[in-house]
Amino acid sequence: MITRRGFGTGALSLASGSSGVVSPPLRLPPTDRPTVALTLDACPGAFDERLARVLVDNGISATVFVTAAWIARNANGLAFFLAHRDLFSFQNHGARHIPPILGHRSVYGLQPAGTLDAIQTEITNGAAAIVRETGETPKWYRGAAALYSPEAIAPIQAMGFGIGGFSLNADEGASLPAPSVAARVAKAQDRDVIIGHINQPLRPSGAGIAAGVVALKKQGMAFAWLPDPLRT
Ligand SMILES: [Zn+2]
Repeated sequence: MITRRGFGTGALSLASGSSGVVSPPLRLPPTDRPTVALTLDACPGAFDERLARVLVDNGISATVFVTAAWIARNANGLAFFLAHRDLFSFQNHGARHIPPILGHRSVYGLQPAGTLDAIQTEITNGAAAIVRETGETPKWYRGAAALYSPEAIAPIQAMGFGIGGFSLNADEGASLPAPSVAARVAKAQDRDVIIGHINQPLRPSGAGIAAGVVALKKQGMAFAWLPDPLRT
């Protein structure tokens, strides 16, 4: 059973960033067996089919945070996900991968949305692409760079989206070598929400995620999608 205590508290304890942005942590509600959620971002980029195939071959569920920009350039990748939609849930990573941050300071080289209006456009258009292409209505939004202006959190939730936080960073933006990523993932604990990437087939991180989740499964870990966010 999902309780507010079990699921909602993470979104309330914001981890303050050094530049006035936040990354709300998220963990799964407790269940009767050790369970994690693997979430994979499809930022603009390509399709990491090697990782996707390992997930399918091992029956591992994942929540894919897709951008409209990724959908537009990866018809084959989208078709792969849709052919295995018993394993893949589609959630909102925005239309153009614009961080939901007010002001002008860029993060990780990404120009921020700047205004609440621009944030809402990014989210609305991202959701529309998912509905149009998958038939699924996303209930979670994860901003580009997974960073948010604190002032943007309540408006995003008022649009009907949970903030797609995480508790275990597997690949630091697909920047880590495979052995490091695999070691991080293999240490996941019950209720962890793991973040990684599925848009960087030329980087080694994806192979690390694949190895890590296979190791977790051998340990008896179950994999779940993010459940519906709580409404307050
Ligand atoms: Zn991203």
